[in-house]
Amino acid sequence: MKLETLAVHAGREVEPATRAITPSITLSTTFERAQDGAFPGGHIYTRNSNPNRDALERALAALEGGGIAVAFASGNAATSAVLQALTPGDHVIASIETYYGTRAVLTGALRRWGLQADFVDMSDPANIARAMRPNTRLVWVETPSNPRLRLTDIAAAAAIAHAGGARLVCDNTFATPVLQRPLARGADLVVHSTTKYIGGHSDVLGGCVIANANDDFMQRVRAYQVFGGAAPSPFDCWLLLRSIPTLPYRVRAQSEGAMRVAAFLAAHPRVACVHYPGLPAHPGHAIAGRQMQGGFGGMLSFQVVGGEAEAMAVAARVRLIVRATSLGGVESLIEHRASVEGPDTPTPRNLLRLSVGLEHPDDLIADLAQAMA
Ligand code: PLP
Repeated sequence: MKLETLAVHAGREVEPATRAITPSITLSTTFERAQDGAFPGGHIYTRNSNPNRDALERALAALEGGGIAVAFASGNAATSAVLQALTPGDHVIASIETYYGTRAVLTGALRRWGLQADFVDMSDPANIARAMRPNTRLVWVETPSNPRLRLTDIAAAAAIAHAGGARLVCDNTFATPVLQRPLARGADLVVHSTTKYIGGHSDVLGGCVIANANDDFMQRVRAYQVFGGAAPSPFDCWLLLRSIPTLPYRVRAQSEGAMRVAAFLAAHPRVACVHYPGLPAHPGHAIAGRQMQGGFGGMLSFQVVGGEAEAMAVAARVRLIVRATSLGGVESLIEHRASVEGPDTPTPRNLLRLSVGLEHPDDLIADLAQAMA
């Protein structure tokens, strides 16, 4: 089945009792047992499982071509679940440009818990190979990365990880399964912040982990959801499932818009550099062409000529685009990234990140043109 069809139908069966087309929201935290002690409804307690969460997990697994998905209350909870499925003393290799919240988990609580982490430039897979140690158990890839849209060759990274006995996890938040299917390229696990494109309307926080099979590792991920308690609410699951049917169409339109905006910015005299994998000059353009299909995504960033003050001044003058963090929603957002990421950030001070929404690209370009005039 094609992705568009899966997006409409996976996890969305007509309800047997009411014949409702749209799923009901099951708010009950607990479910009745039969006289013999069985659970005929298939659920015990909502932290363990819930009909809305089950439906969402089936849809997410189908979209990524996986066999199992585990949904979380946020993207960072999904990240924490994967990392806590490791054992103290295990070594993780992540990219030098990894979402700063992922880096914070790796270098904060989990370092104290005994996890070791190295950060390498993954644009060259040889750097991953050089960083592998006998205790490396996980290679964490984020491609395209946040915020400079760096590309990592998933298949090459997976081959290196597997040769050393490690799993390859890919944060697919920016690309979405519409543009990139990491499991098909050798990744063992896919992570999403479903807060972003999958939710798509800036009104729900969520995350998920997807894999081919319910192996030991995924059982530990599930245990973090159930016993760690990082479970999403039934309403959040319902909102996410409600958003999935339009995902392919939103992402494609956002990619087209981002391509036009990136081309406009690349030709602008006040722009020092544009980070967008769809531009032929982008260092990851060839890899993106190989492992992304149907577009390069709705995210881009650009460096304004000058420093932080000049970048802030451009952000201050936008009228249509909203100054806010986050991404993947229907409305375009612009953000001065370094000031959000804190003093240790590697992000350049003159960089603005743009999440291209579903407005007409002509209007976005006109807004940026007047902001930079
Ligand atoms: N991964 C990426 C690439 C992100 O951009 C984000 C959030 O911005 C996350 C993970 C974390 O997701 P959440 O904010 O839903 O916890």
